[in-house]
Amino acid sequence: MAEPRIIPRAEHPISRGYIDPDALKVLYRLHRAGYKAYLVGGSVRDLLTGRTPKDFDVGTDARPQDVRRLFRNSRVIGRRFRLAHVLFDGGKLVEVSTFRRRPDPADAEPGPGGDDDLLIRSDNTFGTPAEDAVRRDFTINGLFYDIATFAVIDWVGGVEDLERHVIRTIGDPEIRFREDPVRMMRACEFAARLDFRMTPGVRAAIEENRKEIRKSASPRVTEELLDPLRRGWGAPTYRLWSETGLLGEIFPALEAEIGGASRGTGLFWKLLAETDRRRGGGEVLSDSILLGVVFLPLLFAAIRARSGGSVDAQKLLLLLEEVVNPEAARLSLPNAAIHDLKQGLFTMGRIAELRPGDPAARRLVTKGYFPVAVGLLSLYSAASGRYRDAARTWEDLLRRGGRTPRPGEDLRAAIPFPEALIPHEETGPTELLLPDEAPPRARTAPRRRRRRGRGGRAGEAA
Ligand code: ATP
Ligand code: MG
Repeated sequence: MAEPRIIPRAEHPISRGYIDPDALKVLYRLHRAGYKAYLVGGSVRDLLTGRTPKDFDVGTDARPQDVRRLFRNSRVIGRRFRLAHVLFDGGKLVEVSTFRRRPDPADAEPGPGGDDDLLIRSDNTFGTPAEDAVRRDFTINGLFYDIATFAVIDWVGGVEDLERHVIRTIGDPEIRFREDPVRMMRACEFAARLDFRMTPGVRAAIEENRKEIRKSASPRVTEELLDPLRRGWGAPTYRLWSETGLLGEIFPALEAEIGGASRGTGLFWKLLAETDRRRGGGEVLSDSILLGVVFLPLLFAAIRARSGGSVDAQKLLLLLEEVVNPEAARLSLPNAAIHDLKQGLFTMGRIAELRPGDPAARRLVTKGYFPVAVGLLSLYSAASGRYRDAARTWEDLLRRGGRTPRPGEDLRAAIPFPEALIPHEETGPTELLLPDEAPPRARTAPRRRRRRGRGGRAGEAA
């Protein structure tokens, strides 16, 4: 293998002051014990571009068992990919992996796809630093920071691609994507989050091999689907997944609703933009809320298609089963998440109409999915401009409630329902469940809400 490009400390911006102190401890202890100790992967990429890394991974020539011996507070994990976790206070961990190389196809068990089948099934062959660099996915992810010299070591042209804002696979994209199709999702995600462009070869290889994603384990794919939503770059990532045809393979029902001519416009895209905006402001949304965002377009479509736009509670429950169950199975969503997702979507419709003072609402606030419903209503309201008062009222209530009530707890004592909490805007669930872009429908008669006792605000016209 050719020599790497070495960028000495004076010529790159990575200072030890930016490296997590616990990761530094790990690097130094490995180094003092005579091993190579590098910062690897995303942290080097992020530090070189002035971003804050999510985590600091360490690469070394020490074997997992050596690492285990060196750090009392560590354990060896993984089957497909054995590595050591060094644990620190507060649940923090530093991942230490031994340099490895791309598995030799000759060693691999033959896959079900015959000779063409390049899918990697095991990944435990140790190797040199150079081999470890080239087994990584993209050049910008193949850089090392060496604690012995404070230099950046570049075996793959990653520094240049970082400067040019390019996403390039290490080696032939066709092969790298067939070895591990999840890399196609990652290519789009890195392009979206860094605002880099994929090389034409990478882009073409994704379009060409997009069907391969169906071979990947669904929990991995689902993780990739959630990750950009959790981290605040959902909109640009979903856009690239949709444009390249990947989303159509991963989640055809969603692509059918939000892709094609409507890509980039419409409720779903506004919801993603809002989700990203909130994440950017430091708000953390639960996975159930994020899944709700993804499933809302499907639910709206089903309501439009099968109910002519109007839906009662009974029908809505049935539609939720129909819409969510098959996709949830395909995506291997955990049962608890499916439950919260369905109940959250259902309840979102109810709380747009219910007033917090209603007895039914009092029961709702004790439910685990209640925050999901409020979160979804809040996002929906911000994205659509509708139900702002209702959303604000419920958010307020959730904030002031401030805690999850214990089962059986009398909530009248715990959570106040003053008159001022009553939403100003009063609209039925039917309308809530109609997205902005729904075709206009004929109404037989204007819907009138029945008013009971403490319903309306004083002086408000019916
Ligand atoms: P993030 O900020 O999202 O954590 P990251 O680059 O650190 O970005 P990880 O998923 O944490 O991404 O992976 C760490 C490193 O492992 C990557 O930088 C890359 O070098 C390597 N890697 C991860 N996934 C793959 C893959 N599917 N194929 C090859 N290398 C991979
Ligand atoms: Mg990482």
